[in-house]
Amino acid sequence: MKKVALFILSGMSIQVSAQQLPTEAKDVIKSIYTEALGEQQGYKWLHHICTEIGPRPSGSDAANQAAEYTKQMMLDAGADTAWLQPVEVPKWHRGAEWSKAFAGGESVALPTTALGGSVPTPKEGIRAAVVEVGSFEELEALGKEGLEGKIVFYNTYMDHSLISTFNAYGGAVKYRWAGAMEAGKYGAVATVMRSVTLLRDDLPHTGAMSYGESEVKIPTAAISWLAADKLEKMLGDGLVELELFLDCGVQGTAINYNMIADFKGAEKPEEIMLVGGHIDSWDLGQGAQDDGAGCAHAMQVPNLLKKVGYKNNRTIRVVLWANEEFGLDGAKEYARWAKSEGVHHWVAMESDAGGDVPRGFGISADDIRLEQVRTYKELLSPYGLHVFAKGGGGADLGPLRGYDDFFIGYRPESQRYFDFHHSARDNINAIHPRSLEMGAASMSALFYLLDHLE
Ligand SMILES: [Zn+2]
Repeated sequence: MKKVALFILSGMSIQVSAQQLPTEAKDVIKSIYTEALGEQQGYKWLHHICTEIGPRPSGSDAANQAAEYTKQMMLDAGADTAWLQPVEVPKWHRGAEWSKAFAGGESVALPTTALGGSVPTPKEGIRAAVVEVGSFEELEALGKEGLEGKIVFYNTYMDHSLISTFNAYGGAVKYRWAGAMEAGKYGAVATVMRSVTLLRDDLPHTGAMSYGESEVKIPTAAISWLAADKLEKMLGDGLVELELFLDCGVQGTAINYNMIADFKGAEKPEEIMLVGGHIDSWDLGQGAQDDGAGCAHAMQVPNLLKKVGYKNNRTIRVVLWANEEFGLDGAKEYARWAKSEGVHHWVAMESDAGGDVPRGFGISADDIRLEQVRTYKELLSPYGLHVFAKGGGGADLGPLRGYDDFFIGYRPESQRYFDFHHSARDNINAIHPRSLEMGAASMSALFYLLDHLE
């Protein structure tokens, strides 16, 4: 054991022992990047998933085609086993959808999309006066008197002054999730919201919503950023009515699948190094950034390590989860099964933040493990990896927390991620092959290093 770092923890000095890395480690890492950028296999897989299969919403046949395809690709890449784990999911339906604002004899069509889980409007649509709010506090202040029979317009924003776009998303998404539930309490007949995005364009962005335990279920939709600007201006000039039509809803359940592929380890096959993304997507785009990119990343990890001739000590397991977007059903089912089988995930890494250029990793582990991972910074920083933050993982690893204890979330550059997120813009053109492959190589290089750690 070589002592590679010394650091101070709560006044006590701890020596972090990292593994003795093979002398060729630097060269192996370089060859991983060379292979990824040269062959671009991850991009080829992603291109097929996006353009030949397409959107993969909860309950869709396309989600199952993608599971079948990726299973075959993993077997072709040399997986020892690959199988599909059935998962019961809600079957989401989206048909026609539109809205129109009326004021002073003028009418304006607004690009509109139902939020995931919304009930439909009546066949004749809903027409009512619009009330604008900028927060739940404003909604509450208006109360039943101000909201009954009205359509609530949530003119709410991601806080674009924040550096982390994921933090900005976290602050705004509550209006998407609970906006209809809250407005319904005061007798509103529908809600529309400014799309949760940072791009000022004319595409609406969908995403999951919930009625919670509420008996009252009112239709709810997002309108594009520019449509929200128009509606805001019209409301500033006086009374506005909105007509909303949504043909959508949950139509029972269906079976989708988690794809699980194992590349058996030579020394410690029972220690699993899990790497995954989610195979489902929303239905407006091809789910390239969210989360086809994460699937391609995960599939590339064992593939790239094999291509450069590395024989893994631990078992590398690729998991592509079903239905993350609309209830995390795949992640819950995988965790239930893994716990019942007593599977030990030595580490679990998720990629669900898009396919832009790599920045680093978020790491959830005890302090010693965290510092051990941070010793890799020197080897990985030439490839643009400088974030080795405390705390990380992703939504699909959530159900394993408390059972296992070492989680990593891959962190690519994210300033433009929400331009694409859950909209028609999230298609293969949103992905640059080199950025995607740099990400795949980064995750593979980290797994290569981790596989040497005791
Ligand atoms: Zn996602």
